[in-house]
Amino acid sequence: MTERLYFLSDSLIAEVEVLACTATAEGYAVELRATPFHPQGGGQPSDTGWIGTAEVQRVVQDGERILHQVNRPLQPGRVLARVDEQRRRLHARLHSAGHLIGHIGETHGWQPVKAHHWPGEGKIEFVPGLEPRPLDGAALQAHFDALVEADLPLHSEVDAAGQRQVRFGEDVARYACGGTHVRSTRTVGQLSVLGLKEKKGRLLVSYDMAGA
Ligand SMILES: [Zn+2]
Repeated sequence: MTERLYFLSDSLIAEVEVLACTATAEGYAVELRATPFHPQGGGQPSDTGWIGTAEVQRVVQDGERILHQVNRPLQPGRVLARVDEQRRRLHARLHSAGHLIGHIGETHGWQPVKAHHWPGEGKIEFVPGLEPRPLDGAALQAHFDALVEADLPLHSEVDAAGQRQVRFGEDVARYACGGTHVRSTRTVGQLSVLGLKEKKGRLLVSYDMAGA
């Protein structure tokens, strides 16, 4: 089981231990004892970066293990790893925006059930809660802007079951989440609501971020 350093720390540089390196069709798959790299999943693309001199092109979950696809072989042992900061920041902004949109939907009686936070493809799907009320793009944008302006700090804690609970400020909905986040909402930046429609009783919001 790979320990997930990014769960408790935003540090993008870590000394890691290479446990195994296996040749694959695309290059090499590297297993670390503990990793600062967020793997693809939970609606987010994976981090990229470097392990020693090897470039990390993609990171995936394989059961309890996290595998790093790299372009050259690595020897077992300790080495420095570095997560690509620009890409991490962008994904954290897009994903954190998803938390805020999910919360805004909930305040209108909608439950978020699916989320996809890839650049240029941001999408959140809601099902009706108890008393769903219409939500239009202007109201969503205004509420989002207010949450960003309030610069609400990130709260992240791992509960007794080992699940990480994440929320912004005191009043924004809390979600069980293994993703990467901004430290406070102002860093999320400017939202563009690309589409908002009700289809077959579901509410679909598609979005992007300025500078994404
Ligand atoms: Zn999250």
